[in-house]
Amino acid sequence: MIELDHVTRRYGETAVIDDLSLRIEGGELFVLVGPSGSGKSTLLRTINRLISIDDGAIRIDGRDVREVPVASLRRGIGYAIQSVGLFPHRTVAENIATVPRLLGWPAARIRARVDELIAMLQLDGENVLDRYPHALSGGQQQRVGVARALAAEPAIMLMDEPFGALDPLTRDALQSSIQAIHAQTGTTIVFVTHDMDEALRLGERIGLMESGRLLQVGTPLELLRDPACERVRAFVGGEN
Ligand code: ATP
Ligand code: MG
Repeated sequence: MIELDHVTRRYGETAVIDDLSLRIEGGELFVLVGPSGSGKSTLLRTINRLISIDDGAIRIDGRDVREVPVASLRRGIGYAIQSVGLFPHRTVAENIATVPRLLGWPAARIRARVDELIAMLQLDGENVLDRYPHALSGGQQQRVGVARALAAEPAIMLMDEPFGALDPLTRDALQSSIQAIHAQTGTTIVFVTHDMDEALRLGERIGLMESGRLLQVGTPLELLRDPACERVRAFVGGEN
């Protein structure tokens, strides 16, 4: 479980995360959605301590993240972003194996895990394992980025618009992959997007953010049927 307890993050005078509280259950697929600049990425990055907070607390399974050594915290939290950041001089297989290698997994276990992830992300049959990132399409690179983030079986996966730059069909396929992975592994996923359709399609619950606050948290159906305010109604209705 991830608990954000009255979290505030300021840049200068501006609170970009403003006294925000939220509970994400273990195994949940939670989507944070909201307009550009609403604070989604900032909030996500406070969870793995890429960004520090000024007030409040963040706890994972009851433990304050500031009490966990940052390296071990991040080993338990996969992180996938739009600009994939694959290592250009490492093959796909080597990229995916990065964290398991750091953790000292035996070679056979790493190979098996790489094969498993390649299948999960529907990259099998595309013969990509020994290629370098520059020889992949954008969609394939995104998949490898997601595979690498999942490699060491993190309990939590943070995803920040990982499919932002992709064509609708590739995006649909990847959304399905994420749902399948979620169903298979029970990983807690926090998925950020500015696209309400994507949020409604993917989220078990959705948190709708604006100006560093949550306007509403609920299931897609709750947001559609029972919007907490006009702003929510407008977002869900596609007026923004
Ligand atoms: P997008 O959908 O465009 O990715 P977002 O919801 O992820 O937007 P954030 O990146 O979290 O938004 O930014 C929230 C606010 O914090 C923005 O107004 C942004 O300009 C501001 N901000 C982010 N990083 C910094 C920084 N290092 N210094 C000052 N302001 C910052
Ligand atoms: Mg962002």
